[in-house]
Amino acid sequence: MIKNTKKRNEILMIIQNTNKPLTAQEIYDAIFPTTSINLSTVYRNLELLCQENILLKEIRNDKKSYYQMNSYIHKHRVICTKCHCDIIISDCPLKKLENAIEKSTGYQLTSHIFELSGICPQCQSKEK
Ligand SMILES: [Zn+2]
Ligand SMILES: [Zn+2]
Repeated sequence: MIKNTKKRNEILMIIQNTNKPLTAQEIYDAIFPTTSINLSTVYRNLELLCQENILLKEIRNDKKSYYQMNSYIHKHRVICTKCHCDIIISDCPLKKLENAIEKSTGYQLTSHIFELSGICPQCQSKEK
């Protein structure tokens, strides 16, 4: 595994230095000029980083996976019940509610899980 640390760090560097979620192909294109790496290595590292909760994977309407840093900023997902693509909403709509619940219960809330599901625009247009 030590041998792979350099490639892994390069993948992370690229994601960190880009302020938008990237696909494996985009990451590969950014690394390839300087480091010999193949696309499957990029994919494998990305999957591992997701399993370790270092990265977040989001599957968009175009069916591609987009990777971004799993930052301390708390996020929620919206998942399509038909095609299972998901997008991440960066805003937490529950903060106000948490404050109110803390006040009324005296608990200090540390986490919550909130997941939204529905039908994505692409699946909606297929139904018409
Ligand atoms: Zn869908
Ligand atoms: Zn939240």
